[in-house]
Amino acid sequence: MTHIKKNKLYLLTACFMVILILLFVLPKIILPKESIVLEYGQDFTLDKSDVFEQQQINQVRNFTYDLSSVKKDDSNLMAIGKHKIEVSYDINRNTFQEKVVVSIVDHTNPVFTSYPESIDIYEKEDLDLSYLFNASDLNDVTIKIDTSGVDFNQTGSYQAVAYASDAYHNTSSQSFTINIKALDIKNISTCNPNIKEPTIIDGIILVNKLHPLPCNYNPGLNKEAEKAFKQLKEEMIKQGFNIDDKVSAYRSFDYQVKTFKTWVQQDGIDKARTYSALPGYSEHQTGLAFDLFNSETNNFIQNDPESKWLQENAHKYGFIVRFTKDDERLTGYTPEPWHIRYVGDKALAIYESGLTLEEYLYNTKR
Ligand SMILES: [Zn+2]
Repeated sequence: MTHIKKNKLYLLTACFMVILILLFVLPKIILPKESIVLEYGQDFTLDKSDVFEQQQINQVRNFTYDLSSVKKDDSNLMAIGKHKIEVSYDINRNTFQEKVVVSIVDHTNPVFTSYPESIDIYEKEDLDLSYLFNASDLNDVTIKIDTSGVDFNQTGSYQAVAYASDAYHNTSSQSFTINIKALDIKNISTCNPNIKEPTIIDGIILVNKLHPLPCNYNPGLNKEAEKAFKQLKEEMIKQGFNIDDKVSAYRSFDYQVKTFKTWVQQDGIDKARTYSALPGYSEHQTGLAFDLFNSETNNFIQNDPESKWLQENAHKYGFIVRFTKDDERLTGYTPEPWHIRYVGDKALAIYESGLTLEEYLYNTKR
């Protein structure tokens, strides 16, 4: 008797369980999709169809979701990675709350926004060209230049490739031409008629081994720069630095021919090119560059107090120290802690950016 009663009890419990399952668990079998993948930076909206299978959608009512606890990144976008998002919905008048995993991924390649079609460069000059390229992406982009197909010692036209990669290995490439030109000391005084205009970016003139000046560009010494230079020099003398009266400021194309030839006689052309500019390639031709001298050591010495003072204070007078150790890879010149360049009211911003002039002018993200 007790045996039958027990069986009945089991049956009753089983029936009750089935009813329970039907009432509560069954609707819950309609589980949201396990993982939803969305591209980084896209506006986030979650639709029923993102979460439920097609045949389930009609049963789902009052679908809502809560983004208040979702992690945002510095750009105020949903951070890359997995997020658990609480969704709420009704099925058969039962309300359910569940967590849905949303993966934010970045599969978008950076896009080159500016780049040179071709670069003219003298032989035996291997410079960092990456500042010439800009690419946009929602994440930080790194530019790498592949010049493995270029023989910098041999004149000719070569193909090189720039790669823009973001932090998630999404990469775009852009090919460009490098023209290696022969350098002959006999021809350096010859005017290149192809160089017609100086490079001016944001009102700032840029002169370096890739950005020459026309040979007839003769603005003379810039008056505003000269005034600022005098104030800077006076302050240095006031600070007790041993500053010589001698100054090297404006140099014309023709003057630079003589200057460069003097250095070539002393050190040979390859060495001279590491510290002296070819005619048409000198910042002194702009009338905006000044060399300071120490009465005893002549040139300023790197990390000496006067060099440090200049590095930390030149911007207050509208100047930047142009050729630092950081600039060497871009400019091809050994550091010149005595050479300052007038950039006017941009000096503070350049100083604070910590960038070289090249990077500052070409970097659109500043
Ligand atoms: Zn100089």
